Amino acid sequence: MARVYNFSAGPAVLPECVLQECADEMMDYRGSGMSVMEMSHRSKMYQAIVDEAEADLRTLMGIPANYHVLFLQGGAHQQFSAIPLNLCALPGAHGKADYINTGMWSKKALAEAKRFIDAAELASSADETFSYIPDCSDLPVREDADYVYICENNTIYGTVYHELPNTKGKTLVSDVSSMFLSQPHDVERYGVIYGGVQKNVGPAGISITIVRDDLVPQGDLADVPIMLQWRPQVDAGSMYNTPNCWAIYVCGKVFKWLLAQGGLEAMHERNVAKAQLLYDFLDESQMFRGTVRKQDRSLMNVPFVTGDAELDAAFVKESAAAGLENLKGHRSVGGMRASIYNAMPVEGVEALVSFMKQFEATH
Ligand SMILES: *Cc1c(COP(=O)(O)O)cnc(C)c1O
Repeated sequence: MARVYNFSAGPAVLPECVLQECADEMMDYRGSGMSVMEMSHRSKMYQAIVDEAEADLRTLMGIPANYHVLFLQGGAHQQFSAIPLNLCALPGAHGKADYINTGMWSKKALAEAKRFIDAAELASSADETFSYIPDCSDLPVREDADYVYICENNTIYGTVYHELPNTKGKTLVSDVSSMFLSQPHDVERYGVIYGGVQKNVGPAGISITIVRDDLVPQGDLADVPIMLQWRPQVDAGSMYNTPNCWAIYVCGKVFKWLLAQGGLEAMHERNVAKAQLLYDFLDESQMFRGTVRKQDRSLMNVPFVTGDAELDAAFVKESAAAGLENLKGHRSVGGMRASIYNAMPVEGVEALVSFMKQFEATH
């Protein structure tokens, strides 16, 4: 077996021990004589898997009791629609929301919200190719906005909010797809904190939406497709319809792995140390440079360039040949990007830095 160091932005690397456990349980899950893929989602055995996953996630993140945890399908994109449709259906809502645009994912979320509500761009870093996070300490949030929306870690551009915006008392909604469980979050500061799991938590196919109870509309919303309404999923424990049983099961294993690693504080420390290795090298290199303003650098996604497209292409090719996979930057940015999620061992980052040094010396 030859495993590579996989720097993919998502779907992405998972802990090897989790993959091994899944393999071990594939043919016969704990004496059931079947795999989790073949099991009824209404069975006691499967219910125990979901209940344990939710309980472990609540422990990891310190999720207060007045927040619901939803395992939903349709990825983060489905929540781009669900967020305005639910939050603007609450009693007293104005059908307005303010979005901070820090890259493609917030831009897409804003475009989607505009289909349904009066959604506006509150701030943007488009003027410098999204290479920084705008100052969000005193933004002109509309008096009657129902919520303020951010994408907290920008997977493509490699920026992260080191401080949450001042929402002037409005509900904060945050897409944390590419930083989910990479560090502690104070859940109470958010109305909705959500993300697709295929970046840092599990296999593609589900999103986790953590939403405060008073933000889930009561009753049926006549003009909102049932699969976009949060209430039916809250009432059915994320099983209004057949969930992605397999992905929830794998996420549950990752939660246990994270608990065994010491939880999110410990994970954060490790992620800081890993990212430091790479950023320190980028700052001293004569050939490579990071593309993000220093104080806004992400711990998860690290874009860099040589400044020469041919050299970039050669780097991507030669690094792959050396067992360092998926280092090509997003097609909208070019250059390179190393995604160094929770499951990327420090040895992988060391191997990358050592390859970069060698590449610099020989080119
Ligand atoms: C990947 C990504 C998305 C899109 O996720 P899907 O599950 O494909 O809908 C949204 N937001 C962020 C921050 C992402 O990294």
